Amino acid sequence: MKYVDEFRNKRHIARLAALIAKEATSDYTFMEVCGGHTASIHRFGIPSLLPPQIRLISGPGCPVCVTAARYIDTLVALASGEGITIALFGDLMRVPGTHQTPGEAKADGGDVRVVLSAYEALELARSNPGRKIIFSAIGFETTAPGTAVTMIQADREGLANFFVLNAHKVMPPAMETILKDGAQIDGFICPGHVAVITGSSAFEFIPQRYGLACVVTGFEPTDILSAVLMLVRQVNSHKPSVEIQYRRAVSVEGNVRAQGYLSEVFEPGEVEWRGLGVIPSGGMQIRDRYRRLDAASAFSVEIPETIHANGCICGDILRGVRRPPDCDLFASACTPDHPEGACMVSDEGSCNTWYKYHSHE
Ligand code: SF4
Repeated sequence: MKYVDEFRNKRHIARLAALIAKEATSDYTFMEVCGGHTASIHRFGIPSLLPPQIRLISGPGCPVCVTAARYIDTLVALASGEGITIALFGDLMRVPGTHQTPGEAKADGGDVRVVLSAYEALELARSNPGRKIIFSAIGFETTAPGTAVTMIQADREGLANFFVLNAHKVMPPAMETILKDGAQIDGFICPGHVAVITGSSAFEFIPQRYGLACVVTGFEPTDILSAVLMLVRQVNSHKPSVEIQYRRAVSVEGNVRAQGYLSEVFEPGEVEWRGLGVIPSGGMQIRDRYRRLDAASAFSVEIPETIHANGCICGDILRGVRRPPDCDLFASACTPDHPEGACMVSDEGSCNTWYKYHSHE
């Protein structure tokens, strides 16, 4: 508790807010690209502590939200296969595909089970040799090392009934896609958890090629406010760089051991991001050495033509072009109990977060 108090200290928060108000001498727009940051920003009321000339917008940082509808459709189709068990993270259960969510596929008789890790899916495979276990591997550089280590272990054990339906994504190419699309931002609040693995060096291309400020930060109120202050100072001084505010977890080089596991199992490949389309090198492709475990190669399923929910503007929200209240369905037809789109499902989704902390406004 003492640790948390240190980063939620009201005097520190007030001092940082005052410094930001004093030094923010023009208009600034900063984008956070981590769903954890989106949740923290709204949970702690950070926008209300900032002067009106500072705007924070959310980008494609929620792993569930950026998972393409086609991937959900593939999970749903696989779930009806004979002898197949789908093992997935709980949030995915309620993400709408073209016709069904994975949860609805389970209600229709599919064997769909919630797991907390890739390793738990591996244990399912060990204890159910008569079934084919397909682990739904989503998320960024943060969760991918766990998948990689599990695949290495499955390969060592020679397990013939463990597979991975891979949609792991790499964050820096998505940030570059947003910039190439002409996003009007002055800097990024870079993703803290991703940077623990990649190191802050993964974002160096942003100041170098695009002249924009970057700060890697943590998830407590003083972390986020410190990052905003550092971004304002970079913009004011016309000296963009990548700074680390989150030094208690992030280094320049990152977690070299985890990077080693990732490159053992994956190589850069294209992948579809909801809202951003197919991004070359925006994904992790399973290397030939581990292809045997790749569910996309091992199983063939018929996928219906992908149809996106009528009126859902998740794609625009993930690109930072629009905000949840701009959606006609927000807080009416679409709520956390009845999500129409992926951004309303996860605690890290922009629409879910806005619903929780702003729908009363
Ligand atoms: S409120 Fe619902 S329907 Fe609208 S963009 Fe968000 S998730 Fe999609």
